[in-house]
Amino acid sequence: MEKWLLSDIARYFGAKLPIDAEIENICTDTRAITPNSLFVALEGERFDGHNFVTEAFQKGAVAAICHKPIEATDKPVIMVKNTQRALITLGCAYRLKYNIPMVAVTGSVGKTTTKEMIACVLGSCLKTLKTEGNLNNEIGLPLTLLRLDKSYECAVIEMGMTHKGELSVLTAATLPSVAVITNIGVSHIENLGSRENILSAKLEITEGLPAGGSLVLNYDDDLLCDIKDYCGFDIISYSIINSHAKVRALNIRETADETAFDISYKNNLYPACIPCVGRHNILNALAAFSTAVALKLDLHKGTEALKQYTPAGMRQRVVHKSGITVIEDCYNASPDSMRAALATLQTLKKNGRSIAVLADMLELGDYSRKAHEGVGQMVGESGTDILITYGEKAEYIAGAANRAGIEQVYSFGDKHAAGEKLLALAQKDDIILFKGSRGMKLEEMMEQFYAGL
Ligand code: ATP
Ligand code: MG
Repeated sequence: MEKWLLSDIARYFGAKLPIDAEIENICTDTRAITPNSLFVALEGERFDGHNFVTEAFQKGAVAAICHKPIEATDKPVIMVKNTQRALITLGCAYRLKYNIPMVAVTGSVGKTTTKEMIACVLGSCLKTLKTEGNLNNEIGLPLTLLRLDKSYECAVIEMGMTHKGELSVLTAATLPSVAVITNIGVSHIENLGSRENILSAKLEITEGLPAGGSLVLNYDDDLLCDIKDYCGFDIISYSIINSHAKVRALNIRETADETAFDISYKNNLYPACIPCVGRHNILNALAAFSTAVALKLDLHKGTEALKQYTPAGMRQRVVHKSGITVIEDCYNASPDSMRAALATLQTLKKNGRSIAVLADMLELGDYSRKAHEGVGQMVGESGTDILITYGEKAEYIAGAANRAGIEQVYSFGDKHAAGEKLLALAQKDDIILFKGSRGMKLEEMMEQFYAGL
């Protein structure tokens, strides 16, 4: 962040302060305070930043933004109605100082992966700011915008949502010139009711686009492929299977460690290679290429840069140990990413058997049982040889897989017992997929498995 006068900041909230200061950092966490910080006291479910304002001042904050009374202090305090909104206002006001292109990424799954691939592609031509990790909500997003400085030439910003209206706020703060929607799945369907409602909530991302801005859409998605025209935006569609898409992947060659393909755009072929597996990652790479098209960057350079992509933590890393191949995918799970992962499991299966170790998918609300049974059905249809489930909800996966004809199905409520069963079953040449929601901590079973090999 570049220096910003406290008096300028105060003006956005109609506040007049007795003293001024040069702000060099805006933070919400006392552990991140550096000299000349402005501390924004956020009120969360577990912590209330208002209880930490004194500590923030002791650590070097020179001013604070609050919406509740705090202990008496001689430091300047800007009182606002809602500190969360104030943070968004600050992110937006700060972002407006920089006239650079921004790419906004949303979708049910694949946001972080796509954002990382976009950062590689854009980074080949322009100095690019990107959302760190998964900081994609109404706190992480403004904090990301506040990291801009004049050295950056563009930015790629991940936007998550769980309810209608959230993307409207995030995109209004970001004002992207390119918006990417990776897919319309069923994550958070309990809040939104239907996939059609999810689609309309995702399309809120376009509210921040200027007239003539670019909308990058995955045409392999059955809902997105119906969008041919939307508010006059320049639609850049990408696909593996849909021949109407502008950006296509052809000649796909998959190995256990990388995926090579040609990107076809306007009668030209761009040879691409990504150091990861799965058709969904080809789509993510096509989304990244499409942003280079939208920003009129050098497409050869951009495609070449996809090689530099490094899979983000625990998302489908392929590991070889004792003759067994493991797809580590413990970061998270939803029905959509389960489908993609089961397809990858079959693609990479060679001489041995495919073993799916699946745990609960959390946060699916009323849709939970149906979603787990749907995954069980997918397991049955995918050609998976052995299924091990862990968790109460995953029992529905086991039941449906059983009904779909899989003979070897083992269901456990205890993680360690499930791990022991896997160790007893696994043989050389097998390929194993570990996948479950973050809260299920499937990486613990994976470590137990590695230790027991
Ligand atoms: P979050 O909602 O946690 O931010 P996300 O949308 O950022 O998730 P990623 O973190 O990129 O998604 O990936 C989450 C899971 O989805 C991983 O298991 C990954 O392998 C899988 N995945 C990534 N891209 C796709 C895609 N295009 N389609 C289906 N699954 C995908
Ligand atoms: Mg993410």
